[in-house]
Amino acid sequence: MKEATNSNIKSESVFHFPVTTLSPLKRLRILVTGGAGFVGSNLVDRLMEQGHEVTVLDNMFTGSKSNIQHWISHPNFNLINHDVTDPIHLEVDRIFHLACPASPPHYMYNPIKTIKTSVMGTINMLGLAKRVRARILFTSTSEVYGDPTEHPQKETYWGHVNPIGPRACYDEGKRVGETMMYAYRDQAGVDVRVARIFNTFGPRMNPSDGRVVSNFIVQALQGRDLTVYGDGKATRSFQYVDDLVAGLMALMEGSYDRPVNIGNPDEYTIRQFAELIQKLTKTNSSIVHKPSTQDDPQQRRPDITVASRELAWRPKTSVKEGLRRTIHYFSHELEKSGEIKTV
Ligand code: NAD
Ligand code: UDP
Repeated sequence: MKEATNSNIKSESVFHFPVTTLSPLKRLRILVTGGAGFVGSNLVDRLMEQGHEVTVLDNMFTGSKSNIQHWISHPNFNLINHDVTDPIHLEVDRIFHLACPASPPHYMYNPIKTIKTSVMGTINMLGLAKRVRARILFTSTSEVYGDPTEHPQKETYWGHVNPIGPRACYDEGKRVGETMMYAYRDQAGVDVRVARIFNTFGPRMNPSDGRVVSNFIVQALQGRDLTVYGDGKATRSFQYVDDLVAGLMALMEGSYDRPVNIGNPDEYTIRQFAELIQKLTKTNSSIVHKPSTQDDPQQRRPDITVASRELAWRPKTSVKEGLRRTIHYFSHELEKSGEIKTV
């Protein structure tokens, strides 16, 4: 059946993006938990543009209504203010299960709640998937590899996680999340997908999120010192959010049901990364060193052989190009809130 965009339909011209009109047979009912957050809201934009019926479930702990504001009155869109640790009955075809704080300061703020979100929240979503026979994708993390002794990290690596350290509420929560995904697949026949996401950045990151990309950009734009924790030799590999969203959608609609690394192998030391942000923002800010944080993984880079083989996916946006777009976004946001004077 022919599909058309309704961008030129008058009654819907208030919406930011053109939305495809899908035939009822192709239109899926898609639940996105954590859909008001950074990654979730970017994913929601693409799913809405494709013409699906999208329900966001979020308790707004680290997310914000402003991230999805532009869809609020769209007929294909629903927002449910709900905590994923409480059961819920819905009728859906797909579940993107993202709900969970992702930044270390946020997930360490209330470790018990972080554990409950990963454990009870994922059980609730798996129970829902089982009842309505929906396919469910769980956003796991490169943190399941802990402070890795294998580099780069392949999906076959079992990881090196301190089970009682300050990061454990998140890392172990995600590890048991994965365990539950495969228990429900094997015992109850639930159709599962597991993405192991590596450090991601882009528009809609919360400026006070606490992760390195937002910290450095906001510090540079405000003329404050860039805070490198420790000696700056730890490494991370950074991917732009549009690439992650494309990877998550390819994983959901593909047939591969084992864990898949989704990340950009472009690896930087944190010191190099601070220097890159200095250069791209043309700031006069200096780099200062602060005490290192406990159990901070010392190296991280994804092996993406599985993603490229099974999903024909690889990142398309260079780190520099992604940073330019993100710096532009933060400049605008800070200017709007009066936190910097010029873009
Ligand atoms: P985020 O903090 O911006 O978004 C998380 C969303 O989940 C927020 O909207 C928050 O309000 C919501 N949420 C948290 N607890 C909830 C609860 N109990 N009930 C309902 N909603 C709840 O983080 P993000 O960067 O968008 O991360 C999204 C997902 O991707 C997370 O599962 C995270 O673990 C995973 N991930 C992200 C990265 C990254 O670099 N961004 C890396 C690895 C994994
Ligand atoms: N980091 C830093 N300064 C900051 C924030 C983070 O040096 O202001 C370091 C942090 O110690 C880690 C890396 O940057 O080595 C990535 O931290 P982030 O919190 O972004 O994500 P993680 O990968 O640790 O979850």
